[in-house]
Amino acid sequence: MNEKLHNPPPAPRAGRPAACSQGAGARSASIENSLLAALPRKEYSRLLGGLEPVTLSFGEVLYEPEERIRHVYFPGSSLVSLLTLVDGHLALEVGLIGRDGVVGVPLILGHKESSVRALVQGAGTALRMEAAQFLAEFKLSPSLRQELYRYTHTLMAQISQTAACNRFHLVEERLARWLLMTHDRVKSDQFHMTHEFLGHMLGVRRVGVTKAAQVLQERKLIRYSRGDITVLDRGGLETAACQCYEVVRDMHDGVQSVPAARKAEVSEAA
Ligand SMILES: [Zn+2]
Repeated sequence: MNEKLHNPPPAPRAGRPAACSQGAGARSASIENSLLAALPRKEYSRLLGGLEPVTLSFGEVLYEPEERIRHVYFPGSSLVSLLTLVDGHLALEVGLIGRDGVVGVPLILGHKESSVRALVQGAGTALRMEAAQFLAEFKLSPSLRQELYRYTHTLMAQISQTAACNRFHLVEERLARWLLMTHDRVKSDQFHMTHEFLGHMLGVRRVGVTKAAQVLQERKLIRYSRGDITVLDRGGLETAACQCYEVVRDMHDGVQSVPAARKAEVSEAA
């Protein structure tokens, strides 16, 4: 069951992400991110001045292990995978960050370098801020600190649950879990993911990905063709996934601090 780690090709290094339009782009992209949306409007408005809208491309590397973090990223429609490298060339996903969070948690904990590779696995929008400015805002704003601590806790829970999941649960259960986590973040029934990337996410070889995808296809839960994944039966996928999905989701829901009124206020501002 515990298949060998997939051996990934070297990932391309991130250049400067292509900037999209400023202004309205920044506002709508930031509202896509639930961590930013949870901030009081005054705090959010001040933060907006230091946030730069960027478009992240599939396969872009935001951080490498032991490298200095230059920017933090608040994903909108983009999806970022945290990969732990083993023996310098094997990679396994340990965390998944989308509109629910922020990429750059080591800074919050007082570290200027990342311990993992942060790889864009879903192209899309994000807002980024330079590390120095982010740290200044972090010191200045109790609301931002509170949201970041909350998120850090849920990310740590996700990472530790993923470690146990990778060891104990079947590949198809883990694939179902991963598809649900992705579905929650991209808010679309369709997304693109190659065999190779799924191998990194699940820590298995291509044949393991193929078998797991076949199991889910035969149960008519997904359609998978040339990397195009369509979620056909969300409820069925929840049944097929291991319990780890619910454990992390419930923990995340439990610490979401956005009051309904605040959510409405932010939506109106969009
Ligand atoms: Zn699991």
